[in-house]
Amino acid sequence: MHVWKFGGTSVGKPERMHSIRNLITADSTRKVVVLSALSGTTNALLSIGESLKSNAEEEAFEKIEHLKAHYDSFVRELFNTSEGLAAGQRIISNEFSFLRSLTRIKPFTLKQEKELVAEGELLSTQIFAAYLTEEGVPSVLLPALEFMRIDADNEPELGVIDQNLREMLPPHADKQIIVTQGFICRNPRGEVDNLKRGGSDYTASLIGGAIRAEEIQIWTDIDGMHNNDPRIVKKTFPIRELTFDEAAELAYFGAKILHPSTITPAKMRGVPVRLKNTMAPEAPGTLITDKLSEGAQNGQVFKAIAAKDNITALYIHSTRMLNAYGFLRRIFEIFERFKTPIDLIATSEVSVSVTIDNIENLAAIQAELGQFCEMEEPDYDQTIICIVGNFSSDHPGIALKVLKALEGIPIRMISYGGTEHNISLLIHGQYKAQALNALNDSLFVNV
Ligand code: ASP
Ligand code: MG
Repeated sequence: MHVWKFGGTSVGKPERMHSIRNLITADSTRKVVVLSALSGTTNALLSIGESLKSNAEEEAFEKIEHLKAHYDSFVRELFNTSEGLAAGQRIISNEFSFLRSLTRIKPFTLKQEKELVAEGELLSTQIFAAYLTEEGVPSVLLPALEFMRIDADNEPELGVIDQNLREMLPPHADKQIIVTQGFICRNPRGEVDNLKRGGSDYTASLIGGAIRAEEIQIWTDIDGMHNNDPRIVKKTFPIRELTFDEAAELAYFGAKILHPSTITPAKMRGVPVRLKNTMAPEAPGTLITDKLSEGAQNGQVFKAIAAKDNITALYIHSTRMLNAYGFLRRIFEIFERFKTPIDLIATSEVSVSVTIDNIENLAAIQAELGQFCEMEEPDYDQTIICIVGNFSSDHPGIALKVLKALEGIPIRMISYGGTEHNISLLIHGQYKAQALNALNDSLFVNV
């Protein structure tokens, strides 16, 4: 069994839905098909939510009608028969009357916002399933809200998801295509919730892990994970193979193609993840597994570069740290209490510098640190550049090559040696494009 996930642009136009119908029926592998909302819908829904939060009901209504007009013309183009079209229109009519009903709820809370934003995936999957029916493709719609669960810390409840899917999946002999919603789930209070922006990838790998799929395929509009950010650097190329750890690192440090949590469930259960392009299905894409194939380990040192923006660097000193132990624990405990992940760390005998992404609790963290340390002003708008490759000690000169490429760019922090496959550096965001291009030119010259 496979799990195939199609992102917003892969379902965003009627002709794209036609081509994914062809893709999923081209071979006989049993599939769970996970869909995102049509491109633009999640943003449109969130914008309706913003209007409702600020009591701009009229404005919210207009936005809802505008979105509905988009869906009306979408189904007119998608379906070929009058029965098909009627089914599509019924779905739209139901979901949009629910959306309109949300505008009457006051005050408009986070709970309602989550119900609102879930409509994107509810619409795309129902429309796609109706289209498969019109085309005579046997399919069944599996409601994600009935099996996808998160706990109080917003982490997926793996045991519950496993169990639910075991009970709900149609039996093996069945040749139906199983269609389900990405992104949406329920929380411990039973309310509609979600796996955060871009979370449909995560849904796919949670399902793939739970059912021990043979493969998870993530279909997007680019031919795999590239060696560098194609929006910033001209000459990039797709990487054929990555290990789970390399891919996780790249996704976490900014490669937009994959939701950063996606790798964990796949790695845990050893399910390969393949990144594919809906616009060029014959392209090999990127295969992410436990271990690279013989051919892929061709002594290549540098594999890929990613960048993560809006990073804040904190500088913490204490003269009492000289020869002391337990100091780092006291510092890290504070970040743990405020559920604030640390990305990079640099230490000297009396100082620690760390970078964080989420500054929601920064003031409180600083106040607590201030009780036993001196704090410098944080640096905002920093960027982490993450370079992934094979940096084992039998490859001398790696750091030199990286630093030489970055000549002229002030480097604030370096992390090297945490693993054998990552070097991370902190620079000011203003140098990001320059750094990515310079690294591309000197690390991938002859590729
Ligand atoms: N529709 C959601 C979003 O736009 C989830 C996803 O596309 O993966 O973030
Ligand atoms: Mg995505």
